[in-house]
Amino acid sequence: MTTDLDVRVRDLLEHYDRPAACAADLLCDRHPAEQIAFTVIESDLRAYELTYGELRERSARFAAALADLGVQPGDRVATLMGKSVELVVALLGIWRRGAVHVPLFTAFAPPAIEFRLTASHAKVVVADADQAPKLTATDYRTIVAGDAGTPGALRFDDLLDGYRSDDPRARSVAVGGDGLLVQLFTSGTTGTPKGVPIPVRALASFHAYQEFALDVRAGDVYWNAADPGWAYGLYYAILAPLATGVRSLLLHAGFSAPLTWEVLRRFGVTNFAAAPTVYRALRADTAAIADGFALRRASSAGEPLTPDVVSWSQRALGVPVRDHYGQTEHGMVICHAWHPALDVAVPLGSMGRQLPGWSCVVLAEDADIEAAPGEVGRVAIDTHHSPLLWFLGYLDDPERTASRFTADGRWYLTGDVGSRDADGSFRFSSRDDDVIIMAGYRIGPFEVESVLVLHDQVAEAAVVGMPDELRGEVLEAFVVLRTGIEGSAELAAELQQLVKDKFAAHAYPRRVHFVAGLPKTPSGKVQRFVLRGKEIR
Ligand code: ATP
Ligand code: MG
Repeated sequence: MTTDLDVRVRDLLEHYDRPAACAADLLCDRHPAEQIAFTVIESDLRAYELTYGELRERSARFAAALADLGVQPGDRVATLMGKSVELVVALLGIWRRGAVHVPLFTAFAPPAIEFRLTASHAKVVVADADQAPKLTATDYRTIVAGDAGTPGALRFDDLLDGYRSDDPRARSVAVGGDGLLVQLFTSGTTGTPKGVPIPVRALASFHAYQEFALDVRAGDVYWNAADPGWAYGLYYAILAPLATGVRSLLLHAGFSAPLTWEVLRRFGVTNFAAAPTVYRALRADTAAIADGFALRRASSAGEPLTPDVVSWSQRALGVPVRDHYGQTEHGMVICHAWHPALDVAVPLGSMGRQLPGWSCVVLAEDADIEAAPGEVGRVAIDTHHSPLLWFLGYLDDPERTASRFTADGRWYLTGDVGSRDADGSFRFSSRDDDVIIMAGYRIGPFEVESVLVLHDQVAEAAVVGMPDELRGEVLEAFVVLRTGIEGSAELAAELQQLVKDKFAAHAYPRRVHFVAGLPKTPSGKVQRFVLRGKEIR
């Protein structure tokens, strides 16, 4: 059966997958010049509107400057910038030139930056002034946004002043739907980050997600608080809002819970999106008074959403946070969606269903056939029935690319383990590397962690399997306590009992380690593989 939303998917694909496609036209020039793209908010909450006309003018100048620096269509240009007007101008300038954007996260140390710049052969790096000292190699040109004074670097503002938007080199270069837009890297939660090239036609899927899952409509105030150095922030805080043209907030400041509360309230945010850790930080900031919000929709992605956050948000924000699941390789694919046509109740703890344009399944552990309802298996995407799929394989890594597909090429394997209920909704169990097999039982760490964080003295928890002669593996928990709380044998026993009472008697952690913090990626994801290799005794 073809639904209205399937038709919408087809229209979006037609729109973004064209030989004449240039992302600067699709994301900027096609919107009326006076239309507001972003409300830019400074850390002191001063705010101003940024229109598509301004973006068009300034990004055209920047494109001419890049051309003059020798940047050719297809060349890589990196940004090492937080959310700012300069970032959006740089991105649109890069795409106008037909070049490919390489995002770098501002919390990266120099080795992580050099790894990505080398792997992507970047020719130019645009950096915020406070980031520029991290750029030490000489095989790329550096452009510095903000204060002057970096030796050898070009100044962003000088470049804009030095070119006109009607310069012939400022003209949009068409790269087509298969042309590359971004060269991004995965988070590195399970090992070395993988390079993911993103074609222009992927914009159709980002646009669809904003409509279908976030239900952002004209007149809404949308805010995705994620950082643009990662897929979640780049796709859905920058690309999707520019694609749909709905005004969005761009907060030019680092994260703090009080600031987030204030922005939500003062700017009347209606649709909020952020990683689960952001919601946990908001919850911990008890000083906030939980009223005066205009929120209609809230969602989180990137990590499992523990049920405690959902019930808290209903009380504190007036709206439950809904779980959305995706990967750098595809963007969001399985969501508890907010669009009225998709807004069906899903069981507690479920991530929701596949979005229109995607077909997702759970494959059995040992054969490439669909698992029975409720049976845990490999979460996979049907490459034959997912018109929005755009993944092209990993950068320079055919082996890792091949390992993502079943032998016949039909199914893309996400590397995640989960199950599907009879109603079609999906549950996340764990990453396949993190599954614990104890005495023949398969246990996902997430369910055990969800119980541990219910304890009011626990701030965070991670559970891993450790080798055990008798049982193959046993569970060990790494627990971070709330400020001012000390670990003790009694507390450890209490936590073990909590798991026995609320999850399963056999799956309690044999050892509970109280630790000051958990190993995480720069984007805040828990790296359980580091804990598995760790001797904390
Ligand atoms: P790497 O692939 O380099 O190890 P990564 O998988 O963390 O890193 P991303 O593409 O940023 O890199 O993250 C995608 C992964 O994040 C998913 O495969 C899944 O494991 C996890 N994830 C995303 N959203 C959710 C969610 N809603 N619930 C549970 N897990 C999620
Ligand atoms: Mg991954």
